[in-house]
Amino acid sequence: MVEAVGVHKRYGSNPVVKGIDLTVAQGEVMCLLGPSGSGKSTFLRCINHLEKLDAGTIRVAGELVGYRERNGRLHELKDAEIAARRSDIGMVFQQFNLFPHLTVLENLTEAPVRVRREKAAVARERARELLARVGLADKADAYPRSLSGGQQQRVAIARALNMRPQLMLFDEPTSALDPELVGEVLDVMRALAADGMTMVVVTHEIAFAREVADTVTFMDDGVVVESGSPAVVLGAPQHPRTQAFLAKVL
Ligand code: ADP
Ligand code: MG
Repeated sequence: MVEAVGVHKRYGSNPVVKGIDLTVAQGEVMCLLGPSGSGKSTFLRCINHLEKLDAGTIRVAGELVGYRERNGRLHELKDAEIAARRSDIGMVFQQFNLFPHLTVLENLTEAPVRVRREKAAVARERARELLARVGLADKADAYPRSLSGGQQQRVAIARALNMRPQLMLFDEPTSALDPELVGEVLDVMRALAADGMTMVVVTHEIAFAREVADTVTFMDDGVVVESGSPAVVLGAPQHPRTQAFLAKVL
């Protein structure tokens, strides 16, 4: 589903992602760990067409990020094409970024109707199913400000799912939540993983990674230091940098 080869990204003269190779199979859950500033968010943004790579390639579902291949030649995508590709990827951020002036239901139907040109009734019906799935069937007509952080984040996940993405990216989805609200969001993500969704999750929730991830990838200073099963990377890390990080967060 995701294949990154030699990905580099710098901001000005500051290299942030320094040669990342990584693959995520269909249905796989990859948890991405690493210290603050190691380039995790930047790498997710690269997958999601929000950054232009300085070197390397990323394929999502076989298609090159940023380019169209025709007759063996590469053509840079236009903004509208990039937007269309991006709409196949769901992204959930630390800050929920719901539209404050729209109800919960409207938050879920806005993009499918406007970007995908779906019939409103169809988008609404699926939205109601998704709200039920994240435990918020009774909040369809509420406004985001009346919801707790955990509820807002569950709405954000349902909103992303209502675009029927083939891949979900999560960037520290529980980091802004009060501790007692973290569990309800992780439960939704756990159910999504069990349903077979392909997910890349940047998180500091080590227990979640141990339980849900197929692969744990540890990044530091713009590179992948270590990647493998949770049992190995979390239980018996090989690299001193992984060991030092885990000693701090566990
Ligand atoms: P992480 O998510 O692992 O904490 P980031 O990808 O957010 O790391 O950031 C990696 C580095 O890139 C940091 O030093 C950060 O300051 C820098 N950076 C991130 N985004 C930008 C940007 N838009 N412009 C300039 N520097 C940035
Ligand atoms: Mg980050």
